[in-house]
Amino acid sequence: MPKAQETVLEINLGALSHNFYYLKSKLNLDTKFLAVVKAFAYGNDAVTTAKHLEELGVDYFAVAYVKEGLLLREKGIKTPILVLHPQPVNFKSLIEHCLEPSLYNAKVLNAFISVAEKQAQKDYPVHIKFNTGLNRLGFWENDVDYIMSKLNTTKSIKVKSVFSHLAASEDLNEELFTKNQISSFKSIAENIENKLGYKPWLHICNTSGLINYPEAHFDMVRCGIGLYGFGNSAEEDINLRPVASLKSIISQIHKIEKDETVGYNRAYKASGFGKTATIPIGHADGIGRIYGNGKGYVVINNQKAPIIGNVCMDMLMVDISNIECKEGDEVIFFDSNYKASDLAESAHTISYEILTAISNRVKRLYIN
Ligand SMILES: *Cc1c(COP(=O)(O)O)cnc(C)c1O
Repeated sequence: MPKAQETVLEINLGALSHNFYYLKSKLNLDTKFLAVVKAFAYGNDAVTTAKHLEELGVDYFAVAYVKEGLLLREKGIKTPILVLHPQPVNFKSLIEHCLEPSLYNAKVLNAFISVAEKQAQKDYPVHIKFNTGLNRLGFWENDVDYIMSKLNTTKSIKVKSVFSHLAASEDLNEELFTKNQISSFKSIAENIENKLGYKPWLHICNTSGLINYPEAHFDMVRCGIGLYGFGNSAEEDINLRPVASLKSIISQIHKIEKDETVGYNRAYKASGFGKTATIPIGHADGIGRIYGNGKGYVVINNQKAPIIGNVCMDMLMVDISNIECKEGDEVIFFDSNYKASDLAESAHTISYEILTAISNRVKRLYIN
């Protein structure tokens, strides 16, 4: 790789292929693979990611909101797209762009039936979401009769799948809770299948569910973070390859004397003679203030340099007192060696958050 000459997020499509095939190798041949590409494919760029996965033969996509699905359709993505959290105000455009809604309560079910009927739809594919313990979105088991009563009044929609979401699939201390979620899901699915008279697809696993609960793969798995190279555990991280690397350069080096301060509000005060480097990336690019004041770090010439003082909007400063380096040298925030999950941990957050935070201003560079 040529060295970075500005702030860039390198996106390694070869790593994406590797992760896709690795995760798929854990499934039975007839289990379908849904790739979660919400939030710009976890910061990586939804369109490029979806195009690449479509070429690899992914079965389904999911996004959180209708707007995200519209972008994929505009850019020519043909694979079915499940919208996990649509709002009724967007149902008309959802149907016009062949997106498929998750229907998670009576209000959205009724609103969707009414829009589908107005547009003279027949058997429009929908996905019914059940809550089995996350307590975020979803019908309850005892809503099945209500759902059936609504389905029986219309030919406009057809249940393509029934699904739920695990609350703690990555945490093996919560194995009992997760197994209970899986068994309530089974009983809901059986109940609704009997009443529908046909078999909708069933799915409950996210990445850690796929890895830790092979007995719960059902007809499809919904995989996000694993595709981008993180398995929520050290064992699985070894098998996956991070897709995104965040790199920048040193804009300027400052020499500072004891008691001089660095940055806004004079938050860092030098305890002796030292050197600082200013890096052209700030909280507007996704490195939040939480990483400042010694918590987060960057890597320069294979050595860690702590982020000092307050992170600014467009830049941040690091302590390079003990590092051999010069202006223009490459700075690594995360890559396949220095993992985004470790940098995230330095600020008590998770890979999901640091990846999805990298803003539009950061140039994306695709490599294969
Ligand atoms: C985001 C999301 C996923 C993907 O989860 P990962 O842990 O990233 O694999 C799956 N299902 C639902 C409902 C989600 O919201």
